[in-house]
Amino acid sequence: MNAAEISRIVFELGEEAQPWNAVSPPVARTSNFSFPSVEAFRNAISREKEVPVYSRGNNPTVRLLEKKLAALQGTEDALCFGSGSAAIAAAITSVVSAGDHVICVRNCYSWTKKLLSEILTRFGVETTFVEGCTLEQFKEARTERTRLVVLESPTSVRMRLQPVGEVAAWSRAEGLLTLMDYSYGSPLSRKPVALGVDVVCHTATKYIGGHSDILGGVVCGPASFVARLFQHEYMTFGAVLSPDSASLFLRSLRTLAMRLRTQSETVARVVAFLEKHEAVDEVVWPFHTSHPDYRLSAEQFAMEMPLFSIVLRTRDRGRITAFLDGLRAFRMAVSWGGFESLALPCVAFDNTDWPVNMVRLYVGFEDADYLCNDLDQALRLCV
Ligand SMILES: *Cc1c(COP(=O)(O)O)cnc(C)c1O
Repeated sequence: MNAAEISRIVFELGEEAQPWNAVSPPVARTSNFSFPSVEAFRNAISREKEVPVYSRGNNPTVRLLEKKLAALQGTEDALCFGSGSAAIAAAITSVVSAGDHVICVRNCYSWTKKLLSEILTRFGVETTFVEGCTLEQFKEARTERTRLVVLESPTSVRMRLQPVGEVAAWSRAEGLLTLMDYSYGSPLSRKPVALGVDVVCHTATKYIGGHSDILGGVVCGPASFVARLFQHEYMTFGAVLSPDSASLFLRSLRTLAMRLRTQSETVARVVAFLEKHEAVDEVVWPFHTSHPDYRLSAEQFAMEMPLFSIVLRTRDRGRITAFLDGLRAFRMAVSWGGFESLALPCVAFDNTDWPVNMVRLYVGFEDADYLCNDLDQALRLCV
Protein backbone atom coordinates (compact mmCIF):
# COMPACT_ATOMS: atom_id res chain seq x y z
CA MET A 1 0.00 0.00 0.00
CA ASN A 2 1.47 3.35 -0.97
CA ALA A 3 1.78 6.40 1.28
CA ALA A 4 -1.00 8.31 -0.52
CA GLU A 5 -3.47 5.49 0.09
CA ILE A 6 -2.48 5.37 3.77
CA SER A 7 -3.13 9.12 4.03
CA ARG A 8 -6.54 8.75 2.37
CA ILE A 9 -7.58 6.09 4.89
CA VAL A 10 -6.15 7.82 7.94
CA PHE A 11 -7.28 11.40 7.16
CA GLU A 12 -10.38 10.99 4.97
CA LEU A 13 -12.12 7.62 5.09
CA GLY A 14 -15.40 7.73 7.03
CA GLU A 15 -15.04 11.40 8.00
CA GLU A 16 -17.49 12.83 5.43
CA ALA A 17 -20.28 13.71 7.87
CA GLN A 18 -18.75 14.75 11.19
CA PRO A 19 -21.02 16.73 13.59
CA TRP A 20 -20.34 20.48 13.27
CA ASN A 21 -17.86 19.68 10.47
CA ALA A 22 -15.38 19.01 13.25
CA VAL A 23 -11.80 18.62 11.99
CA SER A 24 -10.97 16.12 14.73
CA PRO A 25 -13.76 13.48 14.94
CA PRO A 26 -15.77 14.18 18.13
CA VAL A 27 -16.18 11.56 20.85
CA ALA A 28 -19.64 9.98 21.08
CA ARG A 29 -19.47 9.52 24.84
CA THR A 30 -22.89 7.99 25.33
CA SER A 31 -23.95 4.51 26.36
CA ASN A 32 -27.17 4.46 24.33
CA PHE A 33 -29.09 6.19 21.52
CA SER A 34 -32.80 7.15 21.40
CA PHE A 35 -35.38 6.95 18.62
CA PRO A 36 -38.35 9.16 17.69
CA SER A 37 -40.74 6.33 16.73
CA VAL A 38 -41.36 2.62 17.15
CA GLU A 39 -40.64 2.15 13.47
CA ALA A 40 -37.25 3.85 13.71
CA PHE A 41 -36.48 1.78 16.83
CA ARG A 42 -37.50 -1.45 15.11
CA ASN A 43 -35.32 -0.66 12.06
CA ALA A 44 -32.33 0.17 14.25
CA ILE A 45 -32.35 -2.96 16.42
CA SER A 46 -32.56 -5.19 13.37
CA ARG A 47 -29.29 -3.67 12.10
CA GLU A 48 -27.48 -3.16 15.36
CA LYS A 49 -24.01 -3.63 13.94
CA GLU A 50 -24.47 -0.74 11.50
CA VAL A 51 -26.81 1.54 13.46
CA PRO A 52 -26.01 2.97 16.91
CA VAL A 53 -28.43 1.53 19.49
CA TYR A 54 -26.20 0.74 22.43
CA SER A 55 -22.45 1.36 22.74
CA ARG A 56 -21.67 -2.30 23.51
CA GLY A 57 -22.69 -2.88 19.90
CA ASN A 58 -22.13 0.16 17.70
CA ASN A 59 -20.63 3.43 18.84
CA PRO A 60 -19.89 5.95 16.04
CA THR A 61 -16.41 6.85 17.33
CA VAL A 62 -15.43 3.18 17.65
CA ARG A 63 -17.03 2.38 14.29
CA LEU A 64 -14.99 5.08 12.53
CA LEU A 65 -11.80 3.56 13.94
CA GLU A 66 -12.92 0.08 12.82
CA LYS A 67 -13.49 1.28 9.25
CA LYS A 68 -10.01 2.75 9.10
CA LEU A 69 -8.30 -0.30 10.65
CA ALA A 70 -10.12 -2.68 8.27
CA ALA A 71 -9.08 -0.55 5.28
CA LEU A 72 -5.46 -0.44 6.49
CA GLN A 73 -5.34 -4.25 6.71
CA GLY A 74 -7.21 -4.61 3.42
CA THR A 75 -10.08 -6.61 4.94
CA GLU A 76 -13.82 -6.07 4.45
CA ASP A 77 -14.57 -5.27 8.07
CA ALA A 78 -13.16 -5.07 11.60
CA LEU A 79 -14.24 -5.04 15.24
CA CYS A 80 -12.38 -3.24 18.01
CA PHE A 81 -11.94 -4.63 21.52
CA GLY A 82 -10.77 -3.33 24.88
CA SER A 83 -7.34 -4.95 24.40
CA GLY A 84 -5.40 -7.02 21.89
CA SER A 85 -5.78 -10.05 24.11
CA ALA A 86 -9.59 -9.66 24.12
CA ALA A 87 -9.58 -9.42 20.32
CA ILE A 88 -7.53 -12.59 19.88
CA ALA A 89 -9.55 -14.54 22.47
CA ALA A 90 -12.89 -13.58 20.91
CA ALA A 91 -11.72 -14.33 17.36
CA ILE A 92 -10.30 -17.76 18.20
CA THR A 93 -13.29 -18.70 20.35
CA SER A 94 -15.66 -17.75 17.51
CA VAL A 95 -14.06 -20.34 15.21
CA VAL A 96 -13.78 -23.50 17.31
CA SER A 97 -16.26 -25.99 18.77
CA ALA A 98 -15.85 -29.05 21.00
CA GLY A 99 -13.84 -31.71 19.19
CA ASP A 100 -11.95 -29.22 16.99
CA HIS A 101 -8.17 -29.09 16.76
CA VAL A 102 -5.95 -26.01 16.42
CA ILE A 103 -2.34 -25.67 15.25
CA CYS A 104 -0.48 -22.75 16.84
CA VAL A 105 3.13 -21.59 16.98
CA ARG A 106 4.86 -22.63 20.20
CA ASN A 107 6.32 -19.30 21.31
CA CYS A 108 3.12 -17.34 20.81
CA TYR A 109 1.95 -14.51 23.06
CA SER A 110 1.57 -15.84 26.62
CA TRP A 111 -2.17 -15.14 26.90
CA THR A 112 -2.88 -16.73 23.53
CA LYS A 113 -1.10 -19.80 24.87
CA LYS A 114 -3.19 -19.70 28.05
CA LEU A 115 -6.41 -19.53 26.01
CA LEU A 116 -5.46 -22.51 23.86
CA SER A 117 -3.71 -24.71 26.40
CA GLU A 118 -5.74 -24.08 29.57
CA ILE A 119 -9.11 -22.48 28.76
CA LEU A 120 -10.33 -23.94 25.46
CA THR A 121 -9.16 -27.41 26.51
CA ARG A 122 -11.94 -27.28 29.13
CA PHE A 123 -14.42 -27.05 26.26
CA GLY A 124 -12.95 -29.94 24.27
CA VAL A 125 -10.72 -27.98 21.91
CA GLU A 126 -7.20 -29.38 21.54
CA THR A 127 -4.13 -27.53 20.27
CA THR A 128 -0.83 -28.78 18.89
CA PHE A 129 1.97 -26.26 19.29
CA VAL A 130 4.65 -26.31 16.59
CA GLU A 131 8.00 -24.57 16.24
CA GLY A 132 6.59 -23.09 13.03
CA CYS A 133 9.81 -22.43 11.13
CA THR A 134 8.86 -24.75 8.25
CA LEU A 135 5.64 -25.71 6.48
CA GLU A 136 6.45 -29.37 7.20
CA GLN A 137 5.91 -28.82 10.92
CA PHE A 138 2.36 -27.58 10.27
CA LYS A 139 1.64 -30.48 7.92
CA GLU A 140 2.81 -32.99 10.52
CA ALA A 141 0.54 -31.48 13.17
CA ARG A 142 -2.57 -31.60 10.94
CA THR A 143 -5.31 -34.00 12.07
CA GLU A 144 -8.76 -34.76 10.69
CA ARG A 145 -10.22 -32.44 13.31
CA THR A 146 -7.97 -29.46 12.53
CA ARG A 147 -10.03 -26.32 11.94
CA LEU A 148 -7.73 -23.38 12.62
CA VAL A 149 -4.07 -22.35 12.17
CA VAL A 150 -2.81 -19.58 14.47
CA LEU A 151 0.33 -17.70 13.37
CA GLU A 152 2.38 -15.04 15.12
CA SER A 153 5.38 -13.93 13.13
CA PRO A 154 7.78 -13.11 14.61
CA THR A 155 7.23 -14.81 17.94
CA SER A 156 7.45 -12.66 21.07
CA VAL A 157 11.00 -12.07 22.40
CA ARG A 158 12.71 -14.86 20.42
CA MET A 159 11.66 -13.24 17.15
CA ARG A 160 11.51 -16.31 14.89
CA LEU A 161 9.41 -15.93 11.75
CA GLN A 162 7.11 -18.42 10.06
CA PRO A 163 6.85 -18.84 6.28
CA VAL A 164 3.44 -17.15 6.41
CA GLY A 165 2.75 -17.16 2.65
CA GLU A 166 3.47 -20.89 2.30
CA VAL A 167 1.53 -21.85 5.43
CA ALA A 168 -1.51 -19.72 4.53
CA ALA A 169 -1.63 -21.15 0.98
CA TRP A 170 -1.46 -24.70 2.33
CA SER A 171 -4.05 -23.95 5.02
CA ARG A 172 -6.48 -22.54 2.44
CA ALA A 173 -6.01 -25.53 0.15
CA GLU A 174 -6.79 -27.79 3.13
CA GLY A 175 -9.98 -25.86 3.94
CA LEU A 176 -8.61 -24.49 7.24
CA LEU A 177 -8.90 -20.94 8.53
CA THR A 178 -5.66 -19.00 9.12
CA LEU A 179 -5.58 -16.38 11.85
CA MET A 180 -2.52 -14.23 12.43
CA ASP A 181 -1.56 -12.11 15.43
CA TYR A 182 0.13 -9.21 13.60
CA SER A 183 0.90 -7.13 16.68
CA TYR A 184 4.60 -6.86 15.81
CA GLY A 185 3.95 -5.60 12.28
CA SER A 186 2.70 -2.19 11.37
CA PRO A 187 -0.94 -1.82 10.31
CA LEU A 188 0.35 0.19 7.35
CA SER A 189 1.28 -2.71 5.11
CA ARG A 190 -1.62 -5.10 4.29
CA LYS A 191 0.95 -7.88 4.32
CA PRO A 192 -0.92 -10.74 6.08
CA VAL A 193 -3.97 -10.56 3.82
CA ALA A 194 -1.75 -10.32 0.73
CA LEU A 195 -0.05 -13.52 1.92
CA GLY A 196 -3.38 -15.37 2.19
CA VAL A 197 -4.15 -14.96 5.91
CA ASP A 198 -7.94 -14.93 6.49
CA VAL A 199 -8.23 -13.10 9.82
CA VAL A 200 -5.72 -10.57 11.19
CA CYS A 201 -5.79 -9.72 14.91
CA HIS A 202 -3.53 -7.16 16.48
CA THR A 203 -3.12 -5.03 19.52
CA ALA A 204 -3.81 -1.32 19.10
CA THR A 205 -2.18 -0.57 22.44
CA LYS A 206 1.31 -0.47 20.95
CA TYR A 207 2.06 1.25 17.63
CA ILE A 208 -1.41 2.67 17.04
CA GLY A 209 -1.92 4.06 20.54
CA GLY A 210 1.66 5.25 20.39
CA HIS A 211 1.63 7.25 23.62
CA SER A 212 1.66 4.51 26.35
CA ASP A 213 -1.75 5.68 27.59
CA ILE A 214 -4.53 3.48 26.13
CA LEU A 215 -5.38 -0.19 25.59
CA GLY A 216 -7.18 -1.65 22.61
CA GLY A 217 -7.19 -4.39 19.98
CA VAL A 218 -8.83 -5.29 16.69
CA VAL A 219 -10.00 -8.25 14.62
CA CYS A 220 -9.91 -7.64 10.85
CA GLY A 221 -11.48 -10.14 8.46
CA PRO A 222 -14.10 -10.99 5.84
CA ALA A 223 -17.54 -9.35 6.33
CA SER A 224 -19.24 -12.70 7.01
CA PHE A 225 -16.68 -13.62 9.69
CA VAL A 226 -16.95 -10.22 11.39
CA ALA A 227 -20.78 -10.23 11.26
CA ARG A 228 -20.90 -13.62 12.98
CA LEU A 229 -18.32 -12.56 15.57
CA PHE A 230 -20.40 -9.44 16.28
CA GLN A 231 -23.62 -11.41 16.90
CA HIS A 232 -21.92 -13.92 19.20
CA GLU A 233 -18.66 -13.35 21.11
CA TYR A 234 -18.40 -9.58 20.59
CA MET A 235 -21.84 -8.75 22.00
CA THR A 236 -21.81 -11.54 24.61
CA PHE A 237 -18.36 -11.07 26.12
CA GLY A 238 -18.74 -7.30 25.83
CA ALA A 239 -14.99 -6.59 25.89
CA VAL A 240 -15.56 -3.38 23.94
CA LEU A 241 -13.35 -0.38 23.35
CA SER A 242 -14.52 2.82 25.06
CA PRO A 243 -15.40 5.79 22.81
CA ASP A 244 -12.77 7.87 24.63
CA SER A 245 -10.03 5.37 23.82
CA ALA A 246 -11.29 5.11 20.22
CA SER A 247 -11.00 8.88 19.91
CA LEU A 248 -7.40 8.77 21.16
CA PHE A 249 -6.58 5.96 18.72
CA LEU A 250 -8.00 8.09 15.88
CA ARG A 251 -5.78 10.95 17.01
CA SER A 252 -2.74 8.67 17.12
CA LEU A 253 -3.42 7.12 13.71
CA ARG A 254 -2.77 10.54 12.16
CA THR A 255 0.89 10.39 13.22
CA LEU A 256 1.50 6.64 12.84
CA ALA A 257 3.35 6.71 9.52
CA MET A 258 5.54 9.60 10.64
CA ARG A 259 6.35 7.95 13.97
CA LEU A 260 7.29 4.61 12.44
CA ARG A 261 9.47 6.30 9.82
CA THR A 262 11.44 8.12 12.48
CA GLN A 263 11.78 5.01 14.61
CA SER A 264 13.00 2.85 11.72
CA GLU A 265 15.90 5.29 11.27
CA THR A 266 16.78 5.29 14.96
CA VAL A 267 16.57 1.53 15.40
CA ALA A 268 18.95 0.90 12.50
CA ARG A 269 21.57 3.08 14.22
CA VAL A 270 21.08 1.42 17.61
CA VAL A 271 21.33 -2.08 16.09
CA ALA A 272 24.50 -1.10 14.18
CA PHE A 273 26.02 0.09 17.45
CA LEU A 274 25.04 -3.03 19.42
CA GLU A 275 26.19 -5.61 16.88
CA LYS A 276 29.76 -4.33 17.29
CA HIS A 277 29.67 -4.15 21.07
CA GLU A 278 31.96 -6.56 22.94
CA ALA A 279 29.35 -7.29 25.64
CA VAL A 280 26.72 -8.35 23.09
CA ASP A 281 26.77 -11.84 21.61
CA GLU A 282 23.88 -11.47 19.21
CA VAL A 283 21.33 -8.92 18.01
CA VAL A 284 18.06 -10.65 17.11
CA TRP A 285 16.30 -8.35 14.66
CA PRO A 286 14.41 -9.79 11.67
CA PHE A 287 15.69 -6.96 9.44
CA HIS A 288 19.37 -7.71 10.00
CA THR A 289 21.10 -9.98 7.49
CA SER A 290 22.39 -12.15 10.38
CA HIS A 291 18.83 -13.14 11.40
CA PRO A 292 17.97 -16.75 10.43
CA ASP A 293 14.64 -15.63 8.95
CA TYR A 294 15.90 -12.42 7.31
CA ARG A 295 14.67 -13.68 3.91
CA LEU A 296 11.08 -13.68 5.22
CA SER A 297 11.11 -10.21 6.77
CA ALA A 298 10.50 -8.35 3.49
CA GLU A 299 7.63 -10.72 2.73
CA GLN A 300 5.90 -9.85 6.02
CA PHE A 301 6.74 -6.23 6.86
CA ALA A 302 6.54 -2.97 4.99
CA MET A 303 9.26 -1.31 7.06
CA GLU A 304 11.86 -2.01 9.71
CA MET A 305 10.20 -2.26 13.11
CA PRO A 306 11.71 -0.77 16.29
CA LEU A 307 11.55 -3.91 18.45
CA PHE A 308 14.36 -6.47 18.75
CA SER A 309 16.20 -8.63 21.26
CA ILE A 310 19.84 -8.89 22.25
CA VAL A 311 21.73 -11.81 23.75
CA LEU A 312 24.38 -10.69 26.22
CA ARG A 313 27.77 -12.41 26.19
CA THR A 314 27.58 -13.11 29.92
CA ARG A 315 25.17 -15.68 31.40
CA ASP A 316 25.92 -14.50 34.94
CA ARG A 317 22.66 -13.35 36.55
CA GLY A 318 24.44 -10.74 38.66
CA ARG A 319 26.04 -9.09 35.64
CA ILE A 320 22.88 -9.31 33.57
CA THR A 321 21.03 -7.60 36.41
CA ALA A 322 23.75 -4.94 36.70
CA PHE A 323 23.28 -4.10 33.01
CA LEU A 324 19.51 -3.81 33.34
CA ASP A 325 19.57 -1.87 36.60
CA GLY A 326 22.18 0.44 35.04
CA LEU A 327 19.98 1.53 32.11
CA ARG A 328 18.57 5.05 32.34
CA ALA A 329 17.20 5.93 28.89
CA PHE A 330 15.57 2.49 28.53
CA ARG A 331 12.87 1.98 31.16
CA MET A 332 12.25 -1.59 32.32
CA ALA A 333 8.69 -2.44 31.30
CA VAL A 334 6.43 -4.79 29.34
CA SER A 335 4.71 -3.75 26.11
CA TRP A 336 6.01 -1.14 23.65
CA GLY A 337 4.82 1.42 21.10
CA GLY A 338 5.04 4.69 23.04
CA PHE A 339 7.59 7.51 22.95
CA GLU A 340 9.78 5.95 25.63
CA SER A 341 12.45 3.33 24.90
CA LEU A 342 11.94 0.13 26.91
CA ALA A 343 13.82 -2.98 28.02
CA LEU A 344 12.13 -6.32 28.85
CA PRO A 345 14.47 -8.46 30.98
CA CYS A 346 14.07 -12.23 30.41
CA VAL A 347 16.02 -12.73 33.67
CA ALA A 348 12.97 -11.39 35.57
CA PHE A 349 10.69 -14.20 34.31
CA ASP A 350 10.73 -17.61 36.01
CA ASN A 351 8.08 -19.45 33.98
CA THR A 352 9.52 -19.16 30.47
CA ASP A 353 12.19 -20.92 28.47
CA TRP A 354 13.66 -17.61 27.32
CA PRO A 355 17.46 -17.51 27.75
CA VAL A 356 18.37 -15.55 30.91
CA ASN A 357 20.81 -13.39 28.98
CA MET A 358 18.21 -12.27 26.44
CA VAL A 359 16.79 -8.74 26.70
CA ARG A 360 14.09 -7.33 24.44
CA LEU A 361 14.60 -3.68 23.52
CA TYR A 362 12.14 -1.19 22.07
CA VAL A 363 13.46 2.01 20.51
CA GLY A 364 11.20 5.02 21.05
CA PHE A 365 11.67 8.65 20.10
CA GLU A 366 14.84 9.62 21.88
CA ASP A 367 17.94 10.55 19.87
CA ALA A 368 19.97 7.54 18.67
CA ASP A 369 23.24 8.78 20.23
CA TYR A 370 21.51 9.32 23.57
CA LEU A 371 20.26 5.72 23.47
CA CYS A 372 23.61 4.26 22.36
CA ASN A 373 25.49 6.16 25.08
CA ASP A 374 23.13 4.80 27.69
CA LEU A 375 23.45 1.22 26.40
CA ASP A 376 27.22 1.59 26.32
CA GLN A 377 27.55 2.73 29.94
CA ALA A 378 25.22 -0.04 31.14
CA LEU A 379 26.89 -2.74 29.03
CA ARG A 380 30.25 -1.85 30.62
CA LEU A 381 28.72 -3.04 33.89
CA CYS A 382 28.32 -6.58 32.52
CA VAL A 383 31.60 -7.32 30.70
C1 LIG B 1 0.87 -7.03 23.38
C2 LIG B 1 0.53 -8.19 22.55
C3 LIG B 1 -0.75 -8.73 22.56
C4 LIG B 1 -1.84 -8.25 23.48
O1 LIG B 1 -2.22 -6.93 23.28
P1 LIG B 1 -2.84 -6.09 24.50
O2 LIG B 1 -3.36 -4.88 23.85
O3 LIG B 1 -1.72 -5.86 25.46
O4 LIG B 1 -3.90 -6.94 25.13
C5 LIG B 1 -1.00 -9.81 21.74
N1 LIG B 1 -0.04 -10.33 20.95
C6 LIG B 1 1.20 -9.83 20.91
C7 LIG B 1 2.19 -10.45 20.01
C8 LIG B 1 1.52 -8.75 21.72
O5 LIG B 1 2.77 -8.29 21.70
